[in-house]
Amino acid sequence: MGLKLVSRDRQREDSVVWVGDLPIGGSYFNIIAGPCSVESAEQIDEIASFLSSLGVRLLRGGAFKPRTSPYSFQGLEERGLKLLREAADRYGMKVVTEVMDTTMVDLIYEYADVLQVGTRNMYNYTLLKALGKVDKPVLLKRGFMATIEEWLLAAEYIACHGNERIILCERGIRTFERYTRNTLDISAVPIVRSISHLPICVDLSHATGRRDIIAPLSKAVLAAGAHALMVEVHPRPEDALSDGYQSLNFEEFKEVLSSIVRLCEMEGINLVLGGRRWSFEELKELRA
Ligand code: PEP
Ligand code: MN
Repeated sequence: MGLKLVSRDRQREDSVVWVGDLPIGGSYFNIIAGPCSVESAEQIDEIASFLSSLGVRLLRGGAFKPRTSPYSFQGLEERGLKLLREAADRYGMKVVTEVMDTTMVDLIYEYADVLQVGTRNMYNYTLLKALGKVDKPVLLKRGFMATIEEWLLAAEYIACHGNERIILCERGIRTFERYTRNTLDISAVPIVRSISHLPICVDLSHATGRRDIIAPLSKAVLAAGAHALMVEVHPRPEDALSDGYQSLNFEEFKEVLSSIVRLCEMEGINLVLGGRRWSFEELKELRA
């Protein structure tokens, strides 16, 4: 299929992509959480404060939003990037945010620790080539109509242009099913792991489009062998300017996190959670 650099044949061991002091891949499991969009200084501060208090170190948030409708909220743009960066720095977190096109690479680079390629841009080969020249990790979402092969070839584009720090992200594909926004392709996780050494993340918010099924699916994500879970979190999802229906509120997020903590303990997976050690008492509290 033409995979070279990202293929398991080239490198037998899992790649670990370091984001500062945070390892993504291999035997580690990470949580990437935050709002769909940065909405205000207060909103992103409240979320970063909450997530970091639980040990979450990777803060996501959109500043330039690729919205289906041109009349929907498009993001706070550069001001959003600044607010995201400031909140992350205040709480010792790393920033994951989307770069929508090649003209924005330098700007996003300035503020982000991980540059995200959205599902609509997986086939944007000029963007992929540009990100090959960047010395920061790239989170590459799967195109919603892309085969696993096309997705891995998109990763190959970034790698062969010089950047091998790539995290793949399954975020659901479009099918005839309408109960969910997309269909989570959980089988992509073990397939990608068998043919590539790159770390793989699963974004359950965009995969499902509904917060009520994220908790059970988060267990499936871990059990399938993913290296990271991405989820949208908002203090008041009903007031969110984008994707509120698929964002967890704080209580729901705690519940998801506590089941991940327990599963990681059972499976001997190294959960990267702010270097904290979680006692059973703390876990019980988290669930309460
Ligand atoms: C996002 O993560 O903010 C996003 C827009 O996701 P996707 O590109 O997967 O739709
Ligand atoms: Mn979203």
